[in-house]
Amino acid sequence: MIDDPAAAAPVRIDPARKKIADDAKGFMPDAEAEALYDAAWAMASYGPILEIGTYCGKSATWLGAAAEARGGQVVTVDHHRGSEENQAGWEHHDTDLVDPTVGLMDTLPFFRRTMHAAGLEDVVTAVIARSRTAAALWSTPLAMLFIDGGHAEEHAQADYANWSGFVMADGVLAIHDVFPDPADGGQAPFHIYERAIREGFREVRVVGSLRVLRR
Ligand code: SAH
Ligand code: MG
Repeated sequence: MIDDPAAAAPVRIDPARKKIADDAKGFMPDAEAEALYDAAWAMASYGPILEIGTYCGKSATWLGAAAEARGGQVVTVDHHRGSEENQAGWEHHDTDLVDPTVGLMDTLPFFRRTMHAAGLEDVVTAVIARSRTAAALWSTPLAMLFIDGGHAEEHAQADYANWSGFVMADGVLAIHDVFPDPADGGQAPFHIYERAIREGFREVRVVGSLRVLRR
């Protein structure tokens, strides 16, 4: 592979599409989204990009934009019921995201609107499942894996354990919300980042809490 996932992509995201990503609910500063896009741009022609943690499709819009430009595909996995920290009474709860009929969070309709508005319905494929269930059914090598799912230790460790083996040689593993200092945020993503480094992934880029690693 000759593309450098740490380099700026030669073509930036279309401004209209960036506006769609900006308008989607989610948790990703521009600089991190740009770095994710750059890595996806470099990798998308080698195989699928898989995201764990879709939420309302903000990061999927960036990944999808890069993949489309390179003739690639994105798969994004989420049960759409929210993480622990998204549930009622927790810090990141958003009552707009509750399905009143069932009384549980449901981010899927928001994700679908985002993909429709971004014109990415043929590029980004949603898998509505628990991460571990989807992993058990998966077998395709991944050009890029982006872990941004549940941030409880149990979920982050399982995401790494169940999915990282699918990253192809020279492929990319990106991890979001990596905070080496506990004062800045939860430690589970940092722990799987450390584990990835121990197990031979090389860090190629750091932007905010995003880590871009390469096998
Ligand atoms: N990548 C998104 C944000 C993801 S938020 C963005 O940048 O816009 C984390 C998401 O992970 C939530 O939508 C939650 O439902 C999902 N999630 C948490 N634990 C999960 C699990 N075990 N399996 C599947 N999805 C999970
Ligand atoms: Mg995140």
